[in-house]
Amino acid sequence: MAKEKYPVRLTKIDEYSTTVRNFHFEFLQKPRFDFIPGQFVMVEVPKENEKPVRKPYSIASPPHFANKIELCIKLVEGGFVSTWFFGLKVGDDIEVEGPLGVFRIKEPLPEHLLFVATGTGIAPLRAQFEDLLEHGYQKPITFVFGNRYENEIPFHDELLALAKKHSNFHYLPTISRPKNWSGQTGYVQDLIKNKFPDSKGIHVYICGLVPMVNDLKATLEGLGYEKDAIRFEKWT
Ligand SMILES: Cc1cc2nc3c(=O)[nH]c(=O)nc-3n(C[C@H](O)[C@H](O)[C@H](O)COP(=O)(O)OP(=O)(O)OC[C@H]3O[C@@H](n4cnc5c(N)ncnc54)[C@H](O)[C@@H]3O)c2cc1C
Repeated sequence: MAKEKYPVRLTKIDEYSTTVRNFHFEFLQKPRFDFIPGQFVMVEVPKENEKPVRKPYSIASPPHFANKIELCIKLVEGGFVSTWFFGLKVGDDIEVEGPLGVFRIKEPLPEHLLFVATGTGIAPLRAQFEDLLEHGYQKPITFVFGNRYENEIPFHDELLALAKKHSNFHYLPTISRPKNWSGQTGYVQDLIKNKFPDSKGIHVYICGLVPMVNDLKATLEGLGYEKDAIRFEKWT
């Protein structure tokens, strides 16, 4: 369903690697729309002699980041819209449509919330756990974050600081192609198998590309996690 379009200005770009950037957009018409952490915006990009291309991007920031949204985007080789994003400069204005989507935290909340992402899949989950922590949520939250290289982890410093500030927030990065990394290595699926084999009291929220999400769901179900304790957003 089409939603209202909002003009926004690109005010800052955080570059995490040659292919991953976090874009900060300020709303030009105030106040910003309300949204539920986990929702996305639709972005439409004109294409010569063809229909415009529309692509969804999860809102990577929580609602309390005033009058702005952040979009954490991976540059896909040959990708039309992601390449367009990577051509934007600070000061450029674009339009976003939204908020859209139903990927939200399910009530009642369990004893333990387990968030799992790879790469830019952190986007909707960051909005969700930052929102919970901002509102004083006290039960354990674990974020398992898979990336290829240790020097290209999006939001790594912020996540370390968040874990320092909130004793109930546990940040578990894992690296699949380590160079000089003393922390966890390997895929998120293996880490979950080793550290969270007991499903009792845990709800899992997953975001990433289809193969990772499917694989992890199968792993969790194999461990005895109920289907309705697993929520996910798959990106194709
Ligand atoms: C609900 C939802 C939320 C999303 N949120 C985000 C987000 O926050 N950040 C983000 O970066 N993406 C997100 N995506 C994916 C995004 O919508 C686009 O699909 C992605 O940016 C590629 O679009 P494109 O036009 O650049 O590539 P296209 O022109 O559509 O694709 C070019 C080629 O790349 C392949 N391809 C497409 N996507 C990928 C990929 N991710 N990795 C490898 N190859 C790929 C295609 O199969 C095709 O061959 C989301 C998707 C959904 C469904």
